[in-house]
Amino acid sequence: MTRAWRRYLLASGVVLAGFLLVPNGVPRDTVYLAVGVTCVVAILVGVRHNRPATPWAWWLMAAGMALWVAGDAVYSWYEDIAHVAPFPSAADYLYLAAYPLLGGGLSRLAWQRRHGRDLAASVDAAIVTLACGLVSWVVLAGPVARSGTTGAERFFGVAYPATDIVLLAALTWLLTSVGHRSTSFRLLAGAAGVLVVSDSLFLLAQAGAFADPLGALDLGWLSAYALWGAAALHPGMSRLSEAPDVAASSFTRRRLLALGVAVLVPPATHAVQLLTSDTPDGWAFVVVSTVMFTLVVLRMGLAIREVRRSETVRSRLAADLAHQAAHDSLTSLTNRPRVLELLEAALHRAQRNGGLVGLLFIDLDDFKRVNDTYGHAAGDHVLRVTAARMREAVRAGDTIGRLGGDEFVVVLEQVPAETDVVQLADRLVTVLRQPVRLPSVAREVSVGASVGVALSRDGGTDAIVLLHDADAAAYRAKRAGRGRFEIFDEALRREMHDRAALETAIETGLDEGQFLLHYQPVFDVATGAATGYEALLRWARPGHGIVAPADFIPLAEQSALVCRLGRWVLLEATQQLVAWTTQDPEAFGGVSMAVNVSGRHLYDDSLVRDVTDALLASGLAPERLVLEMTETILVDGHAAAGRLQALRRLGVRISIDDFGTGYTSIGQLQSLHADGLKIDRSLVESTTPGSRELVRLLVHAAHAFGLEVVAEGVEHESQLEPLRAAGCDRVQGFLLARPQPAQAFQPRTTPG
Ligand code: C2E
Ligand code: MG
Ligand code: MG
Repeated sequence: MTRAWRRYLLASGVVLAGFLLVPNGVPRDTVYLAVGVTCVVAILVGVRHNRPATPWAWWLMAAGMALWVAGDAVYSWYEDIAHVAPFPSAADYLYLAAYPLLGGGLSRLAWQRRHGRDLAASVDAAIVTLACGLVSWVVLAGPVARSGTTGAERFFGVAYPATDIVLLAALTWLLTSVGHRSTSFRLLAGAAGVLVVSDSLFLLAQAGAFADPLGALDLGWLSAYALWGAAALHPGMSRLSEAPDVAASSFTRRRLLALGVAVLVPPATHAVQLLTSDTPDGWAFVVVSTVMFTLVVLRMGLAIREVRRSETVRSRLAADLAHQAAHDSLTSLTNRPRVLELLEAALHRAQRNGGLVGLLFIDLDDFKRVNDTYGHAAGDHVLRVTAARMREAVRAGDTIGRLGGDEFVVVLEQVPAETDVVQLADRLVTVLRQPVRLPSVAREVSVGASVGVALSRDGGTDAIVLLHDADAAAYRAKRAGRGRFEIFDEALRREMHDRAALETAIETGLDEGQFLLHYQPVFDVATGAATGYEALLRWARPGHGIVAPADFIPLAEQSALVCRLGRWVLLEATQQLVAWTTQDPEAFGGVSMAVNVSGRHLYDDSLVRDVTDALLASGLAPERLVLEMTETILVDGHAAAGRLQALRRLGVRISIDDFGTGYTSIGQLQSLHADGLKIDRSLVESTTPGSRELVRLLVHAAHAFGLEVVAEGVEHESQLEPLRAAGCDRVQGFLLARPQPAQAFQPRTTPG
C-alpha cells in the first residue's frame, strides 16, 4: 500500500495528459466516468487497508464521490445517447446531493482533529468562508438569482455556489486545524480545493465570463478525483484524524495573512461593485460585514483569553520551578541552599531589629541501619514521616529544611525566650523517638534523633557558623548517648577550637617528624625469651613533652588523619625490625613486630595497600608482622571478617587486642579470622573471684581454636604465676619491660 497511491496518481496523470486528445462524446465521457469510478474504488480500498480511526468520514466522502459519478453518468447519458439537455435534470440533483456528503466527510475529519475544542480555529474558518461566500454570491449566485427566468434556474443558480461554499467551509475548517500534516492531508485539501475552483470556473464560464471550447474544465474535476483517491490510498490517511498534542491553534503568519485578506474582502468587493455595477449589492455587504465584524471581535476575545491562559500557565510553571529549586523533592522541605539563605535573612533582621534566632540541627540516629536493612524505599518512607512529624511539632512560620541524607534543621525566628527553643528540641527528640511503621515490610522501626541547638542573639553570628555550631551540638548529643539534645555553648566552642588546633598540630607533627615509636617486648612464658615487640606510638610535641597515644589517637580517629598515622607506624616499625635483624640476626631473626591498627584504618580501603607497601619497603617477611586490633572494633562481624581475611591473605598475622573488654563470647573465637588474642590488662589484674577461672577458660578455648594467647599489662610477680598455670603462651608488661625507644634494644656491638 505504501506505493499504491503513487501508482494511482501516476496512472491518473497519464490519463489526464491524454484526456483532451480523446474524441468528444462517448469515448471521452467513458474515460471521464472510469476515472470517477476508480476514485470511489480507491477510497474504499484505502479505508480497508489503512484502517483510519474515523472510517465514517471516508465512507461519507466515498458516497459523495459515488453520487458525483452517478451524476456524471446521467449527464453523459443525456448528452451522448438521448441528445437532450433538460434543466434541471436528475444529474443536477445527484451533484447537489454529493456536496453535503463530501463536506460532511471533511468536517468529520476536522472535528476529530481539533477534538471539537478549538473554537478559535472554527471562527477563523468561518471568517475565511464568509469572505469567499461573499465573493461567490456577488460574482456567481447573485446575478443568477436576480436574472434567472425560471424558479429552478434561480434555485440551482444559488444552490451550486452555496454547496461549493459548504465544501469550502469544511475545507478551511480542516486547513485551520492543527495536527498531523501528512502527504495524505495535502492531497485531500488539494482535491477539495481543485473541486471548488473548478466548480466556480464552470459557473463563471456559464455566466459567460469566458468560453471553454476544449472542455478543459473537465481536467479540473478529473484532478479532484485523482487527488481524492490518492489521499485515501496514502498510508498517512490513517493518522489524519489524530488529535494534536498541542492544545489549540495559534496565530501563524499565514493564518494572520488569510484573516487580514478575508476581512478586507467585503469592503473591497463593495468598492469594486460601486465602480463597475449599476446595482451594487448593498445588503449582502451589510450582512456579511456585520457577521464578520462580530466574528472578528469574538476572535479577538478568544485570542486575549489564550494569551491570559498561557500567561497563567507560564507563571504557574515559573512558580513550580522556583519551588523545585528551593525544596527537597523527597520531603518537600526547604533545601540546604535555601535554608542558608533564609537563615542569613533571619539573622540580618535580628541584627536590625534585635531578637533571638534559634537553629536546631536534627540528625537521625539509626537511619543508616533502616536503609541498609530494609532498603531505600523504607529509608525514604522514614524520611517523609520524619518530615511530617517535624512539621506538626514546630510553630507555623518556622522553617524546616533538609540538608541532605538524614540531617534536618529548623530555623526559629523571633523566639521569645531561649527556653522555647530548648522545649522544641525536647519535643522533637520525643516525637522522633516514636516508632515508624514501614508499610513495605509491615514492621515498625525506631529511628530516634540527636538534636543540636544553637542560638544567636541580635544576629551576631553568620549562617554558616550558626549551622556549624548546631551541628557540633548534635554531634555531642550523639556522643553522649543519642536520642537527646545538646545546646551549643562556650565550652563546646572551646572544645571545638582545641580539637581543630590539635588536628593541625598532628598534621604538622607528621610533616616535621615529631612522632616516634616505643617498643615493648613480649616474652615467652616457658623460656623467658623475647619473642616479639609491640610498637607504641609517641608524639614528641614541642612544648608538651612526650604525648601518649590516648591523648591524640581518639581525635585522629575522627578523621582520615589516623590512617596517615597508621601508615607511618607500619613503615617505621617494619623497618626497625629489619634493622635489628640485620644487626643481630641471632637475637632478632625469629621475633615478630606487633602494630596497632585503628578501627577507622581497618575499614578504610587503604589498609591492605599500606601493609603491602610497608612490607615491600622494609623487606620484612609478612608472617613477622602482627596487626593488633581491639576487640570492640570488630563488632560488625560480617564486615570485619572480610577485612581480616584480606589481610591474612597477605600472610600477616592478626591479634585481637584488649580481649575481654568487648562482647565477644568464647564461642565466637572460632570465627574471628585471627591468629592470636591479647588478654586485656583489666582481666590480668582483676582479683574478683572467678577471674582466674575465666582467664583459664579463655586460654583453653583459644588454644582449642588454634589461637596463641598473650597476656598484657603484667605488673606484678603475683600475676605471672596464675597466667603460667592457665597455660598462657606469652606475657607483656611493666614487670618484664616497659615500652622504650628503639635504641634501648639496640644489639650491643662489641668494639673491635
Ligand atoms: P594497647 O595496644 O593495648 O597497648 C598497650 C598499652 O598498655 C600501652 O599503652 C602500654 O604502654 C601499656 N602497658 C603495657 N604494659 C603495661 C603495664 O604493665 N601496666 C600498664 N598500666 N600499662 C601497660 P600506650 O602505649 O599508652 O598505648 C595505649 C593504647 O594506644 C594502645 O593500647 C593502643 O590501643 C593505642 N596505640 C598505641 N600505639 C598505637 C598506634 O601506633 N596506632 C594505633 N592505632 N593505636 C595505638
Ligand atoms: Mg596493642
Ligand atoms: Mg591492649
